[in-house]
Parts: sequence; structure tokens; C-alpha cells
Amino acid sequence: MIVVIGAGAAGLVASIFARAAGRPVRLLERTSDGGRKILISGGGRCNILPSSLQPERFVTDSPAHLMRGLLRSWPLTEQRRFFEEDVGLPLALEAETGKLFPRSNRARDVREGLVGLATTRGVEIQYDTTVTGLTPGAPWLVETSRGPLDATAVILATGGLSVPQTGSDGTGLRIAKTLGHEMHSLYPALTPLTGGMPGGADLAGISLSVRIRARADGRTRETAGGFLFTHRGYSGPSVLDISDTVTRSSAPAPTSLRVNWTDRTEAQWRDEIAATTGRVASVVARYLPERLAEALCMDAGLPADRRGPELRREERLALLERLTAYALPWTGNEGYKKAEVTGGGVALTDVNPRTLESVRHPGLFMCGEMLDAFGPIGGYNFAWAWATGRLAGLAAGQMAG
Ligand SMILES: Cc1cc2nc3c(=O)[nH]c(=O)nc-3n(C[C@H](O)[C@H](O)[C@H](O)COP(=O)(O)OP(=O)(O)OC[C@H]3O[C@@H](n4cnc5c(N)ncnc54)[C@H](O)[C@@H]3O)c2cc1C
Repeated sequence: MIVVIGAGAAGLVASIFARAAGRPVRLLERTSDGGRKILISGGGRCNILPSSLQPERFVTDSPAHLMRGLLRSWPLTEQRRFFEEDVGLPLALEAETGKLFPRSNRARDVREGLVGLATTRGVEIQYDTTVTGLTPGAPWLVETSRGPLDATAVILATGGLSVPQTGSDGTGLRIAKTLGHEMHSLYPALTPLTGGMPGGADLAGISLSVRIRARADGRTRETAGGFLFTHRGYSGPSVLDISDTVTRSSAPAPTSLRVNWTDRTEAQWRDEIAATTGRVASVVARYLPERLAEALCMDAGLPADRRGPELRREERLALLERLTAYALPWTGNEGYKKAEVTGGGVALTDVNPRTLESVRHPGLFMCGEMLDAFGPIGGYNFAWAWATGRLAGLAAGQMAG
């Protein structure tokens, strides 16, 4: 029997493909229903895939070619075909973001579709069962809260540490480590940041499209897209996508984040401000939400009624910097409680790149978020979970056969 541990995105797909070779497959899940991250994904709509994928946007501490090879193992067009034809879930493209969602816009349909297909294909799903340990051997011994099980092959698909109430509390990562696998340090990723507001203003609820440049450890990374002021700090895709540079940031050189609030250049701002005879804040508010415009002027030390001709040189320089390279005063991050994924995990060098079988323990396969790679917002992380889940499932099925 093939035992798959974790009925999340990766484990559900792994179990479906493990059945292809005809052997019995049992899927063990600690919660009463599984797939809880699928349910809360994409704001309840489930951004199931991106319409195109740039592998270089994935983050890993393992050799990048291993991550790219795993992504190539199941091209997006085939993943899409699987969901539309095998799962029977028509997808729709959100043109402005390039994201694919189920046409019904219901994440529940994705979970039910996968659970339904697994059941139809003969996977035996056992809920309310927590795996507590694994002992290698022929057969493998799987220790669970409902007693031990024997398995010819085991697929670990227990996810990371993010949003633990969905069922993923890191047990699988601990098991992988106990079995001697090399682990890259874990950190929350795609998580909101905490911090103050320009000029100390209350800007919660304001959203706009920005560009953020992070400088950390001598390296620069840039993200672009939505930015949202929250009650505690900042969120939105551009913030979430850069957040790992903050969650991994350490003294004495913490990550610096610089925000360009518009697509205007410093020269364009300088010329327009120089040409105005009216209030400088009103010029800024032509391109930015008014409260943010006022706050940035305040942050640059401008009196609220400062007019163009009265602008002092140091005020102009300070304002141009606030507009095009604002030093975001982040103080921390919202951690695993809000993180969409966990960075780090099982080193990709510790799994066979063609099968995802452990290089240390024959018969053990690993897939999904517990592996050391994650992508940006936009369906990338499900693409990873589906691709690695399928590969592990196929290989375990063939091996056990
Ligand atoms: C709020 C939120 C929104 C997101 N939105 C998107 C999105 O729109 N698009 C996208 O691509 N990605 C999104 N993601 C990321 C995506 O959900 C994850 O990358 C993906 O779910 C990882 O799949 P996984 O199967 O590896 O892990 P998980 O989905 O976490 O599944 C792990 C499963 O294993 C079970 N388990 C854990 N330990 C045990 C144990 N010891 N015994 C038995 N079972 C166990 C858990 O209960 C769980 O069901 C989002 C994440 C969050 C938190």
C-alpha cells in the first residue's frame, strides 16, 4: 500500500497520480476535511494557477536548476488540462492579473473536485488521523493517532508552518529532519509587514499600485503591484512578494525597502512641482490618493499650505525622495499566522529530481510546500504543489508496483 500523508494541495494530487499504477493508496489527513488552504486561497476564489510562469521568480536556497526542472515536469498547459478535463473544473482568466480561477469563483469547487477525483480513482481517504512518526524499512512503519500502518511507499505532503489552523504545523518537516534530511532554514514568506505611516498619518485602507526595491545582504530585488496600508502596516501583492527579504533580515544590516508610489520619474515630479504656483500637496494629489499625498508632504517636512514658489531646496529634495524612493519604516512582519507560504524546508538536493524520492531513504517521497521553494503571489504556489505532488505520486505508484 502507498500511504500519502496530508490531504492538502500536493497530497491530493499525489494520491490521484499514485493510483495510476493500480496499487492501493491511502491518504491520511489530520483535519476532518483536508484542503483547508485551498478553501481560504485567493480570497475564497482559489487562484489555482498563473496563466504564465517565470521560474526565476521562485525563491530557493537550493540549486535553482533543480527547482526549474521540477516545475518543467508538469507544464502549465497540462496542469490546466488536468483541472478542466480530469477534475471537470472550467477555469477563467482574470486578464488584469494573469491569474486563473475556477469559473465558479469558488475555492470549495477546487477542493471538492480533487477529493471527488481521488475517491473516484479509488484513493481511500482517512480523515482525523495525525501521523506522528515514520520508521524506514520494507515495509515502512507509519505511526498515527489511530495506530500503526505498513506501507511499501510513503509520500510526505504535510506542508509548512503557515496558517497552522489549516492543519500544517510542521510535523512533516520535523519527521523529514529526524530522518536525516538536509533542511534549509524556515521563514515566513508572503506575509504582511508591520510598520509606521508616512508623516504618522492614519492611512489604513488606502491601496494603490507601486514598485518596491529591497536591498538586503548586498543584493537588490524589486516587486511591483498592489500595495495596501493596513491598521498594522502594509500588505498587497507587492509587499507580500518582497516580505521574505524582511522576514530573513537581520541586524546589523536590516533590509531597506524603498517605495516608488507611481510610475513617474524624479525628473517628471521635479518639473511639475517647479512649474506650479499653487499648493505642492495638490500637485502630488494629482497622482496619489489625497491622504497619502498630504502624508508624504508632511513626512518631507512641508507645511500643509506650502506653495510651489516658496519651496526650499531641502524641502524639494526631501519630497522627491519620499515620492520616488520612500524608505518604508517597517518594524516587523505578521509571521506564520498570516504567511501564505513557508520559505526554506527540505533541500532539493536531498530528493531525486526525476522522482522526488528521498536520496537518503528509498521509498519515501516528498512534495509541496515542505520542499525548499516558493513562488510569488499569482497561483505560483499551487503550480508548485500540483507539479511536485503529481511527480511524487507517479513515481511512488511505479515503485510500489
Ligand atoms: C491565506 C492563503 C491564501 C493562499 N492563496 C493562494 C492562491 O490563491 N494561489 C496559490 O497558488 N497559493 C495560495 N496559497 C498558498 C497555497 O495554499 C500553498 O502553497 C499550498 O496549499 C501548499 O500545499 P501543500 O499540500 O504542500 O500544503 P498544505 O496545503 O498546507 O497541506 C498540508 C496538509 O497536510 C495535513 N497535515 C499536516 N501535518 C499532518 C500530519 N502530521 N498528519 C496528517 N496530516 C497532516 C494538513 O492538515 C494539510 O491538510 C495561499 C495560502 C494561504 C495561507
